[in-house]
Amino acid sequence: MTDRLLHLLLRTEADVFVVRQRAREVAAAVGLERQDQVRLATALSEVGRTLFSDRGGPPATGAEVWFGLGSEKLQVEVIAIGPSRMDQLPSLGRLVDDLTIDDGPTTTVVRMSRRIPVGAGVDPDRLERVRAELAASAPRTPLDEMAEQNEQLLAALEETRAHRDRLARLNAELEETNRGVMALYNQLSGELEETNRGVVALYAELDERSAQLRAASEAKTRFLANVSHELRAPVTAVIGLARLLDDPASDPLTEDQSRQVELIRGSANDLLRLVNDLLDLAKAESGTIQPDWSEVDLRVLFSQLRGTVRAMATGDVDLVVVDPPGEATIRSDEVLLAQVLRNLLHNGLKFTAAGEVRMSATRDGDDWLIQVVDTGVGIPPELHERIFEEFYQVPGHSPTGATGTGLGLPYARRLVTLLGGALTVASEPGAGSTFTVRLPVAGDDGAS
Ligand code: ADP
Repeated sequence: MTDRLLHLLLRTEADVFVVRQRAREVAAAVGLERQDQVRLATALSEVGRTLFSDRGGPPATGAEVWFGLGSEKLQVEVIAIGPSRMDQLPSLGRLVDDLTIDDGPTTTVVRMSRRIPVGAGVDPDRLERVRAELAASAPRTPLDEMAEQNEQLLAALEETRAHRDRLARLNAELEETNRGVMALYNQLSGELEETNRGVVALYAELDERSAQLRAASEAKTRFLANVSHELRAPVTAVIGLARLLDDPASDPLTEDQSRQVELIRGSANDLLRLVNDLLDLAKAESGTIQPDWSEVDLRVLFSQLRGTVRAMATGDVDLVVVDPPGEATIRSDEVLLAQVLRNLLHNGLKFTAAGEVRMSATRDGDDWLIQVVDTGVGIPPELHERIFEEFYQVPGHSPTGATGTGLGLPYARRLVTLLGGALTVASEPGAGSTFTVRLPVAGDDGAS
């Protein structure tokens, strides 16, 4: 639905000025901004000039121009008698929002429109006033229009210059910012480089320290191995000599002497045990122990252990070695595994005053779980890892009065690790302890 605002006739090229001027007035009256007024006026004057120019064919003989108001749009229709030359105006579409050109054999109809800003408030009253104003205002001369056009051109130039200045200012600011960012970046990368150098130096120091630590640990192991090896012969000699002194075939000793010789023998035995344990541990740590892998029958191993450890059990404690179920074989080192289990059974008997020490084996997927469970004194949870440290013994602990070296569990754990498994403990003070050896059925193949 279009409300007609103004109707003009274009008869000669001179009328183009009038149309241009009126177009601006109409655009201003319906609330278009100044730039849009100029755009519409320019578009119309371009259409007019093209129609009446005699370049590229005969000019049009006349044209009608209608201004109307559609929904939120100012619409202009130019109906010209004559052929279209609008192909000479490729940029016309950029001046308006919509443009259509109907190029008939005798007439050419150009329709264009420009959107009116929202809230321009074009109501019927206003329209009436616009119509009246337009009717009242007399068209000006082409000279006036030219002067007006020049003014518009100057204004546009001014605006362009302001735009350019703003752009130059923005560019300068951007350059400044870039310089700032670059400076910050350089500073940051400098700091990063510095930090990196620090980290690299730290790592180098760390490597050096670990190498020193490794060397120290190896030296300790070598020292332990050498010392314990060298001590073994004289200690064994002391034990032998003490036995000889106490022998009934030798000269009889007084009661006092006999007690002292017995003390010497006991101490020498303790010393020999410590030396042997130290030597075992040193060997395990230095990596010189190579498991001798073979198929081990757990039933046979268990029954051997039952025989050898039974002697240690006192009257108040039962040693129960449960036969493993059915086919119970494992790929392992029989001697090392026996050493581990014997150690656990000895500990169980040592730290249990009454009740039982029970060893059993169960299959758990690809592993064998061998458990030694006792009803002894138990171990506080916070010490569960400490008892695997060398020489650590829970203070005031053994109810049977048996002594030890504090080296048995660290050695046992090393051996189990060597066999591809893990040794763990679960225990509560007063509620007994459970030591679990988990070993892969397939031995080293299963561990790798
Ligand atoms: P030790 O020669 O003293 O037995 P171990 O390394 O075998 O050395 O054990 C370390 C300590 O762990 C023991 O001194 C003891 O305090 C504690 N312990 C080991 N086994 C048991 C157990 N079955 N019940 C209670 N405490 C235990």
